Order: sequence, then C-alpha cells, then structure tokens
Amino acid sequence: MRYVSTRGASVKLPFGDVLLAGLAYDGGLYVPEAWPTLAPGDLARFADMPYAEVAIEVMAPFVGDSIDPDAFAEIVRDAYATFDDPAVVPMRELDGGLHLLELFHGPTLAFKDVALQVVGRLFDYELTKRNRTVTIVGATSGDTGSAAIEACRDRDAIEIFILHPHRRVSEVQRRQMTTVLSPNVHNIAVEGTFDDCQDLVKEAFADADFRDRHQLSAVNSINWARVMAQIVYYVKAAADLGRGEKPVAFSVPTGNFGNVFAGYVAQRMGVPITQFIVASNQNDILTRFLETGSMRLGEVHPTLSPSMDIQVSSNFERLLFELVGRDGAQVAELLLQFRSDGDFTLGTDVMAQLREHWSGERIDDEQTTRIIASTWEHSGVLIDPHTAVGIGAAVTCRRDASVPVVCLATAHPAKFPDAVEAATGIRPELPPRLDDLFERPERCTVLPNSIAALEGHIDAALLGVTP
Ligand SMILES: *Cc1c(COP(=O)(O)O)cnc(C)c1O
Repeated sequence: MRYVSTRGASVKLPFGDVLLAGLAYDGGLYVPEAWPTLAPGDLARFADMPYAEVAIEVMAPFVGDSIDPDAFAEIVRDAYATFDDPAVVPMRELDGGLHLLELFHGPTLAFKDVALQVVGRLFDYELTKRNRTVTIVGATSGDTGSAAIEACRDRDAIEIFILHPHRRVSEVQRRQMTTVLSPNVHNIAVEGTFDDCQDLVKEAFADADFRDRHQLSAVNSINWARVMAQIVYYVKAAADLGRGEKPVAFSVPTGNFGNVFAGYVAQRMGVPITQFIVASNQNDILTRFLETGSMRLGEVHPTLSPSMDIQVSSNFERLLFELVGRDGAQVAELLLQFRSDGDFTLGTDVMAQLREHWSGERIDDEQTTRIIASTWEHSGVLIDPHTAVGIGAAVTCRRDASVPVVCLATAHPAKFPDAVEAATGIRPELPPRLDDLFERPERCTVLPNSIAALEGHIDAALLGVTP
C-alpha cells in the first residue's frame, strides 16, 4: 500500500512515512493509491467480533507491510484497553429509529481518543524503529490538547508541548491537561487568546533552526492515520446493525471533516451506507456548500459546540480529490483559488453526484438546547451539544425511514456540563475514572504571548539551557 498526495505532486510513500510526515510536501493530504475492499461475509463476521479485533483487520490493508503485524495488533489492543466500556464504542437506540454510537469512552471523553490512542502509539513505535525522537508542539482551545496529551504521555520518543490560552479554557478542560504529570508532557498557558497560541505554534514551525533543533512535529487532524482509525467504527456499527445485508445512514457532527470522511472510506470499502448527514452548527460552510455548490469562507461564530467552530474543513480536500476524478492538479488549482478569493465552485454534475448520498444541515444554539432537552425527555439520555447537532440534522435530513440512522456521539455530556444543565436541569457527572480530577495536582507554565519566551522555554526544558 502506497499513498499519493491530493495535489498530485509528491512522491508515493508507504504508511510509516505518511504517518510521520502529516502534510505532503506539495501541501496536499495523503490518501491511499487505491481503496481496499472488504471481502463478502466480512461484515457478518465483524458483528460477532470484539472492537479491537475488527480494528486490526480493517486497518491492516492501509498499514500494509510498513509495520510488523504482531506489533500492530498489540498497539491496537493496547490502545482500546484504555476505554472504559468493553464494547469500546457502544451503541444504544433512541426514540424514532435513531441509534447513538458513543465514541466518548476514551481517556479524555471525546471521540478524538478513538484515533489518537492508536496514533500516539504508532508514532512512538515508528520513531523508536528509526531511532528518532520528535517534539510535538500544538495549540488547543480545549479538547484536542487533552486527547493529544493522553495519546503521547510517557512515550519515550516523544516530547509534547501544548499551548492553551491562560484562563480562557474551562476548568475541566484545563485540569484534563495540567494534571498529567508525565515528564514528557509540558503544558503552557499563554497570556493571550487561542489565536495567539496558534500564531505562536506557526511561528515556531516557521523558524527553521528551531524546527530542526527539536525535530518539531504535529499530530493534527489532517494526519492520514487519524482518518484510518476512524473508519473502523463505521464498519463496526454497520456490521452490528445489518451484518452487511441492510443499508445504514450516518449523521456526523462535523468540523474539520475528518470524521465524516472516514465514513466515506468505509463506503468505498463496501459498507452499505446510503446517506451521510453532515451536521454543522452556526458555522455552516459545509451546509452552504451542499446547498449551492460553492465553498465560501465565512466568519467564525462561537457556539455551544466549540469543537465545530471552524472556518475551513481541511479534510474536505480528500473528498474533493475523489470528486474531480483524482486529478491532483485540479485540486491544487481549486484550493489556490480558495486561498486567494475565499471561494470555489463545483459543477452541477459533480454536485448532483455528491447529493445522491450527502445531505447537510445547520442547527443553531437554540435548536441545540431544545434537542438536548427533548432527547432527555423522550429517550432518557443526556447528550452533549455536538451530539445534539448531529441528532437534529438526522431528524431533518433523513431520507428513508426504513434505513436506521447512526448518530455519532462525539463527546461525553460531562465535558459540556453547563449547556446540558441549562437544557435539562441536570448536571452530568464525570465518569469514575475522572471523579478525582479536581483534587489532582496540576503542572503548567504561564508564558507571555511571545515567540522568544516560547522558544526559550522549550530550549530550557529539552536542552537544559537557561533562556
Ligand atoms: C473534533 C470534534 C468534532 C469535529 O470532528 P471533525 O473530524 O473535525 O469533523 C465534533 N465533535 C467533537 C466533540 C469534537 O471534539
């Protein structure tokens, strides 16, 4: 198995190189040269198998011969042993033919753990094999940082520095990061906003000396390995509901498009998925695109579902590559235009083909609150605001009442207790593994919003030099 870039101008690479590279050299994203397919009977078989074993089989063709099969199987089993439900991603039925796939039973209570618990271990394995180390530097507005920290803690080949805006993340979010006291984990609170944190990270990567000195790296959402690990739960949910004989639909609360793109891959592999419902909050660039055929940049509005408050869905590039017949030059041209003009438009034939399986809907904060309340009332289940956006879109967009819709539950309700309490009057409790979170000691360094301060701090921590 080799990987090509969506912009068509990078050399083909095997899985191990794609894992460590993240972005391709031509600025594109890596995708497999060809989509592997499931064998007849696989889905029926997967219905009776534990999640980790399905994961090993589904991911194997993407990993190819890059990683020793026994080592890979051990990594995957180890990753999913950190989840506190034996089903890893349990599914439950809601009122009205909807199913809730709970992706939040990992260490940080959000779906990003499903991929990052595997990817952190793969990084460590691949780096150790190559006798290399990296320094991961990233910015977070809350959720991604804790998932990355949990994925990388105590891994010998990795040092991780996560910047968050000082006093601008919730106490749960902060403590999920700062109470991890592993020696390779470094939390930095920047006196500034999330955008300041992101700018500092960009500046650090742009400083070639600094980047090389510490072998800077990222585990961001465009990494192919993250998409790969997310394919598995689409396969497993479809297997559990229909054993491959009955079609299913998915409703996915979407930000960067990584999650729902993994569903597209499952469909290409042969899973009978008849509809993808792309659920957005007020940041509705994807809904507008599905309505009009134009991808047009808007402003970012803060909402009750902050992990979807984004302007550009970077992983959409992977679907675009498929829509234009894998013509990398055309993808590069469209994205260049997007960058310079803030929009691009696809032809009516392409859009018609896309709309056969794809629908989009925006759900605002008021609707989100109502959906949290009604799901509690009718099904007795507390859901977080991101999940509510998906359920709302599922109800509106569902095309065929005989096809079950799987709504992805992307965060535990206790991660967003204020929104849940406002809607239902009930404050959701943290699960047992986190119930002493507020008693645990914290470690964090506060830094001014300055690249010199950041680089000085990292130099001091890793090289023992005083800034
Ligand atoms: C990251 C995130 C999303 C969006 O996922 P994408 O892969 O970026 O589309 C949705 N919900 C929650 C809770 C998240 O953390």
